[in-house]
Amino acid sequence: MGKKTTTSIRDLLFGDLWEYAPAPQSSDFVTLKERYGHFINGEFVETEETFDTINPATEEKLAEVCIADEATVDTAVKAARKAYEKVWSKMPGSERAKYLYRIARMIQERSREIAVVETLDGGKPIKESRDVDVPLAAAHFFYYAGWADKLNYAFPGAQVKSLGVAGQVIPWNFPLLMAAWKIAPALAAGNTVVIKPAETTPLTAMILAEIFQEAGLPPGVVNIVNGFGATGAAIVNHDDVNKVAFTGSTGVGKIIQRAVAGTGKKLTLELGGKGANIIFDDAPLDQAVEGIINGIFFNQGHVCCAGSRLLVQENIADEVMAKLKHRLSTLRVGDPMDKNTDVGAINSREQLDRITELVAAGEAEGAVKFQPSCPLPEKGFFFRPTVFTEVTPSHRIAQEEIFGPVLSVLTFRTPEEAVVKANNTPYGLACGIWSDKGSKLFEVAGALKAGVIWGNTYNKFDPSSPFGGYKESGFGREGGVQGLLAYLEVR
Ligand code: NAP
Ligand code: MG
Repeated sequence: MGKKTTTSIRDLLFGDLWEYAPAPQSSDFVTLKERYGHFINGEFVETEETFDTINPATEEKLAEVCIADEATVDTAVKAARKAYEKVWSKMPGSERAKYLYRIARMIQERSREIAVVETLDGGKPIKESRDVDVPLAAAHFFYYAGWADKLNYAFPGAQVKSLGVAGQVIPWNFPLLMAAWKIAPALAAGNTVVIKPAETTPLTAMILAEIFQEAGLPPGVVNIVNGFGATGAAIVNHDDVNKVAFTGSTGVGKIIQRAVAGTGKKLTLELGGKGANIIFDDAPLDQAVEGIINGIFFNQGHVCCAGSRLLVQENIADEVMAKLKHRLSTLRVGDPMDKNTDVGAINSREQLDRITELVAAGEAEGAVKFQPSCPLPEKGFFFRPTVFTEVTPSHRIAQEEIFGPVLSVLTFRTPEEAVVKANNTPYGLACGIWSDKGSKLFEVAGALKAGVIWGNTYNKFDPSSPFGGYKESGFGREGGVQGLLAYLEVR
């Protein structure tokens, strides 16, 4: 006789039977071109040499993308100069604002398509592209549209003037959003732009170019050139660029700072980070655990301001770790196009190799690794959410930016020790503090050397709030009225 199988209510509620059904986001309404060129002087132009952009979740090719050489960058800068002299710098701010509002609304209109392309090209979960990247990009254009005709009120008593042509280079972790952070304030302030997207994620910038064209933005006001680091360097080094804005790694930031030194070009650098997320024993722990998860696993940890170092007060460390490990095992890792996915694909094979190397270094140096036993897709670039305990401040995983879903946990006993440990990296971009006591929160915040500090929350962004770093995380601010300063001469 066969064994009788029964399903208990407990199994139904808590067992494996209660799996999520697949919730795929369709992409059949999106048509990608076989080949993308550059957007120069209001037109799409192609150049001969190309590279492939792939979907990191499947390793399949999405499109070919042209590479801009120095001559192409020169054409783009000339178009930007002409648009600046003849049209954009002469246009009243209230007229510039109309274009920015139009662009913002068109991003909203095409939001589903843009979110899908962002996820296909970069590997981030569709729920993040849809709910964070695209709405925030639109919000930045709306926000800076509001400043375009009020520049004289932004810095009371001062005279303000646009700079000219802004050369901008952006990374792959928030491709559309970084483009918006750079382009919106530049245009609001009356400058024109030449921008280069990152090589692994050029596609949403090309949709943005279509939007600029359809919005009737005067030719040359924004020019988008694709390519590798050499294309970025050609923008940075071009004689007729007045301002350089760079977001990317600290290593490349240093190269750019050297290249720009003595040229008179205005410079802002948004670089790497190694954010501390500090949990005091009086914090609401369940909420803090959600904050820890959001701080390090949002966008696979490809976040410059990620809370990649957890500093937890020693007397609650066991409790926090138990809750954290349990929560980690509920994270859904895999297909970024599934609406229930929490952790999507690592952006590139190169980044996956870097994460793998640093995790191996963590183990070799004696830290203890924990990973949930979640299945990973067979193809594509994926990495299990990882937490290291027994980390000391000198370990590489406590000092170097991993830029992946890897958390290093350290403990502390007093607020003073927490501050010293939090500040003990070459970076200074972001920190989080979790405490029930407002006075403690503000005192600790005042002692932290970081540009952005969140209290009882993490990874919250708003266009009206300035963002940027100290030390090797760079200088200059993006967002808010402060974000205009990078694009204006204020006298
Ligand atoms: P990256 O290697 O520095 O690249 C950033 C951009 O610069 C890319 O478009 C890249 O082109 C280009 N580039 C490379 N070499 C160049 C050169 N010599 N001159 C001019 N441009 C050059 O950084 P990533 O790996 O893309 O991005 C990850 C880093 O960005 C992390 O360290 C992260 O913390 C940082 N980040 C900082 C912020 C912030 O706001 N502070 C925000 C996001 C990311 P290719 O794509 O062709 O290499
Ligand atoms: Mg790609």
